[in-house]
Amino acid sequence: MIATARLGRRLLLASNNAHKLTEYRALFAGLPFMLQVPKDLGLTLDVDETGRTFTENAVLKAQAFARAADVAALADDSGLEVDALGGLPGTRSRRYAGEDATDADRMALLLERLRGVVTAERTARFRCVIAVAAADGSLLGSVEGTVEGLIATEPRGRHGFGYDPVFWLPEHGCTMAELSPEEKNAISHRARAAAAARDLLAAWRG
Ligand code: IMP
Repeated sequence: MIATARLGRRLLLASNNAHKLTEYRALFAGLPFMLQVPKDLGLTLDVDETGRTFTENAVLKAQAFARAADVAALADDSGLEVDALGGLPGTRSRRYAGEDATDADRMALLLERLRGVVTAERTARFRCVIAVAAADGSLLGSVEGTVEGLIATEPRGRHGFGYDPVFWLPEHGCTMAELSPEEKNAISHRARAAAAARDLLAAWRG
């Protein structure tokens, strides 16, 4: 009991994506929770993302990790929605160019599908949904954040991950991958969802 009070409550960051974990560690700095990642618990878990929406997938992941670890868990599902492609790649963002494709493959396929599409019609957004589940798997809630932009015609920048090099931010005059990690964490879809998640966690007495 005393040990628990000293350590604070535990919160498992339920992701196997090292880039996301780095961003979350920075975004949740100072949160009164002891943040853990699956590796800290010796936990290997791959959850099938069978949901139709970001929210369904985030909830699936948070609940599965919480139950497997018996620790409160926070999971996200995120991706890129391109208006000219009817919202694709959306929940298929990671698998857009096949299971074993690289970020470069995914961006190349996206740019190919948008070939000939004029700037004004290259509107897109990153969306991130965060779900939090208690240790018994019950759902605390889910929150979301978005950031609007345009799909560039070629990749630029070396920071971030995923589709960041082709996501043009008109207000900043650069791509997401040209922002420093601190700058990305001030404006990203994940940062906005994390700010809302902080409120959810602050109100949680569980
Ligand atoms: P998942 O949420 O792990 O299923 O995968 C999300 C996928 O969406 C990632 O593999 C990336 O391709 C893309 N994605 C999500 N967030 C970002 C981001 O912050 N920058 C660039 N791409 C992202």
